[in-house]
This record gives sequence, structure tokens and C-alpha cells, in this order.
Amino acid sequence: MERDFSSLFSGFFGSAEDYSSFLESWGSYIFQFIIGIVILLPLIYVIYAIRLLLASGYKNKYDFASRYATPTLRLIGILMSIGLAASVNLWAQDAVSKEELWFFIRLAISFPIGGIWVYLSFSFLNFYYPKVLYKRLNKYRYAPRTNPSTGNKMRLLSEDEEDKYLDEGMQAEEDAFSVDYDVWLDEQTNEVIIEKYKGNLIAEECDCGFQTLKLVNQEIVQDPDDASSNVLKKHYLCSYCGEEVERFVQTRRSLEKTEQESLAEQMSQQILSLKLEIFRKDGRADSYEFQNVHQTQDFLKQINPTQAQNPTRKTS
Ligand SMILES: [Zn+2]
Repeated sequence: MERDFSSLFSGFFGSAEDYSSFLESWGSYIFQFIIGIVILLPLIYVIYAIRLLLASGYKNKYDFASRYATPTLRLIGILMSIGLAASVNLWAQDAVSKEELWFFIRLAISFPIGGIWVYLSFSFLNFYYPKVLYKRLNKYRYAPRTNPSTGNKMRLLSEDEEDKYLDEGMQAEEDAFSVDYDVWLDEQTNEVIIEKYKGNLIAEECDCGFQTLKLVNQEIVQDPDDASSNVLKKHYLCSYCGEEVERFVQTRRSLEKTEQESLAEQMSQQILSLKLEIFRKDGRADSYEFQNVHQTQDFLKQINPTQAQNPTRKTS
């Protein structure tokens, strides 16, 4: 007596008629579900685009896009993969209608196919899309502003020029690289617009309200509540108000890593490109873009070899 593998599932849905009516309603549910997703996908994008359009002014557009562009695309990627996985359940109807086993095989295949699509779309969002978004955000950030009260064109001040319009707290934040302020000046009325952007480094916020806490040192101490675990005690000094602050962080595995090491690691993962602006005495400015810190250092050595910063290289 021969029992092949497929017979394991035959009769799972009852009689042949039960199975075929199940398949019919299954197929129609899947089809309606996919139609729903196909309608939802452009709708999500249109809602995003309309809200971006309605954001008044470049700064609001910048803030909106930097907050919602990636999550919107991530949601679209997830829905696409669910739709794709569902559509697999409409494949090979002939084989499936003949044997129940194929129904389960097809169902099982739909999961890795959906998973592959999630993986691909998340890879795109993590590695390629940040560059696209960065360029788009810069367009908003550096688009010429007009003074809303006079209609005059405004000029973006350089880092040196902008200081007199920033209070000390703001300057301390810029020095800590935690916040970047852009100052736009209406040269006819001397009115300024100050825009706040996230800086390159993350600094904790002090009680004085500025993101100016600099880490002075840290030590590992025993957790007062739990003798079996340790906490990291961090000493900060506010570079604006001078207050000393202690904060406790529950430590995880990476106890051995120093703050500098983990910061360097974080930075190198986050660096997309480096922009170097060189301002000449005659007022001309050149800007250069680099992929990483090494390229930038090499470039600086080339334009000014006598001041090569790298101590391991000796001049012969
Ligand atoms: Zn402070």
C-alpha cells in the first residue's frame, strides 16, 4: 500500500466540494485584501505629499520631511510586502485545486517572499535613501528665505557672522555641536530669522534649557537597588551655565567600551558625507564634499601639507 506525502493533507478541508468552495472564498478574500492595499499605498503617499505641501515655509517643510519621510516609506514598504505575500496565495491555482498539500506549500512560501521584500525595502531605506533625503532636506534648509513682513530677500549668515545674533546659550549649543542655528538676515531692515536644526552630536539637555551638557568623566558603580548589576555614573558639566550634573545609566553588555570609542563608532556609522567649506580672503568660498573622515584629512594635508595633522607621518 502506497502512501505518499500529499495524502497527509488530502481530506483536510473535508470533501472535494468543500475544498473547492473554501478555495473560492479564500481566493476572493485575498483578492479583496490586495485591492485594499493597492488603494491604500498611493493614499498614504498622497497624504504625506499634501501635508508636506501644506507645511508653510521651508523650515516647516524641513521639519516635516525629516520626521515623516522615512516612517512613511517604511510603512509603504511593509504594506507592499504584506500585499506581495498575499498575492503569492493566488499563484498556481491549478495545482492547488488538485491537491490540498499545494495549498499549504503556497501559504508557506508567501512568508519568506514577504520577508525578502521587507528586507530589501529596509535596506534601501537604511543605505540609499538617507542620501536622497539629505539632499532634499538641504534644498529646504538653504532655499533663499524672504522676510514675511517686508517681502525682502534674506541672506544666510556664515558661522562667524551669525554669532552676534545668537545668545550665549545658543552659542554654547553650537560649540557643543548639539544644535545648529541658521541666521537669516534682512539687510535692509536688520530683521533676522533664527532657525534651529539638529547638530552633529547629541548633547544632553541641562536644567538651564540648553543642550550643552558635556561629559567630563564616568565611572561604573554598583546599582544601589540591585546588587547584581552595575550602573554607569556620568558626570557632566554644562558649557553654558557651568552646572555640574550627575546622571545614572543602567549599563548593558558593552561596559568595557569607553565613551569615546562608542561615540566614534556611532559617528562613523552615522556619517553620510562631510562638507568642507573654505572661505578665502578675497571673499570667495569653495565647498567640497567627502565620503569619510580619512578622505577629508587627506584633502586637508594636500592643500596644507606643512600642517599635516597626522602625527604618525613624518616629513622626510
Ligand atoms: Zn546649563
